[in-house]
Amino acid sequence: MTSRAAIFWGPGRPFTVEEVELREPRMGEVVVRMVAAGICGTDLHSVRGEFRRPTPMVLGHEGAGVVESVGDGVERVAVGDEVVLSWAPSCGECFDCRRARPAACSRLHAAIAAGTLVDGTTGITLRGELVYRGTATGCLAERVVVSERVALPTGGAIPLEQAALLGCAALTGVGAVLFAARVEEGESVLVVGAGAVGQFAVQGARIAGAGEIVAVDPVTARREQSLALGATHAFSPSEIEAALPEILPDGADVGFDAVGDPRTTAVTLELTRPGGRAVLVGLPAAGARLDLDPALFVRREKWLTGTMYGSEDPAVALPILLEHVRAGRLLLEPLLGPRFALEDVNEAVAASLAGSPGRVLVRLS
Ligand SMILES: [Zn+2]
Ligand SMILES: [Zn+2]
Repeated sequence: MTSRAAIFWGPGRPFTVEEVELREPRMGEVVVRMVAAGICGTDLHSVRGEFRRPTPMVLGHEGAGVVESVGDGVERVAVGDEVVLSWAPSCGECFDCRRARPAACSRLHAAIAAGTLVDGTTGITLRGELVYRGTATGCLAERVVVSERVALPTGGAIPLEQAALLGCAALTGVGAVLFAARVEEGESVLVVGAGAVGQFAVQGARIAGAGEIVAVDPVTARREQSLALGATHAFSPSEIEAALPEILPDGADVGFDAVGDPRTTAVTLELTRPGGRAVLVGLPAAGARLDLDPALFVRREKWLTGTMYGSEDPAVALPILLEHVRAGRLLLEPLLGPRFALEDVNEAVAASLAGSPGRVLVRLS
């Protein structure tokens, strides 16, 4: 079986679109005909050289498509099902998977570091040479072979371009608020960084019934969008330190750093009230280090924690998010950014690097 796929050759080198060979689905695996994939900040870390990646590699881990065929023993999905890809299938065996946190699975993280699926293989070759897979997925391709645990059915209720956003940005941003920080009604929320993950955190805060919801982003269009999606205030980074005390004199009950840069983490922690929780959501570059005043944790009793993929099993979280979408509480359509054909993957990556408001999507069929 073959598929066209966007191949990442390393930082500073253009992607090429190649016809790759895929192995047939094994026991418990399915073939998904991809419809769309989003360019996520994690992909950009690879593009900028902030994560070392084995190459050649198919990046992309936020996508949706239709099950095209199934291997033996597949029970959870059937041919024709519309699915969102999860990049954290539970191995079902390790400590983290048993505590329902498959995004923390040690086997998954080993696979991500090695550029493979959780089983240690990739199932992709190019002219006989092994091709690696980004974030244990690699869905910037027309077809992917994945475990059925990766392909989560949507029930066909949402257009697949929108469903793609659920696969990483929405599970991460909404999950950070609802499942990790467990924001309560009336609590005030600060969201630093209003890219796709930040916009979903804003929506999560609105869904949770938060009081003031303050978004921070240098891009005007992103600030405007956050106001449309539920933020009560939005400021640029240069305004926020003077502006926040006017609204929340003690700081926000809960602060989310949706960027993951040490500077945005420091601002988030500083602007979270004494006793409040600062939550790291954006993935930091490899080697990033924080320089923090420990008195913030002792004298000011602040909490600093982090969340990966919304701190919930995606197989549990996705149906909850789908219900919010169906009820009109969680909006996906406004977050669709520019869309590109697979051949134009380099333009798609450039648009994402430039900070396009809305998720940049690659159309795959
Ligand atoms: Zn992602
Ligand atoms: Zn595990």
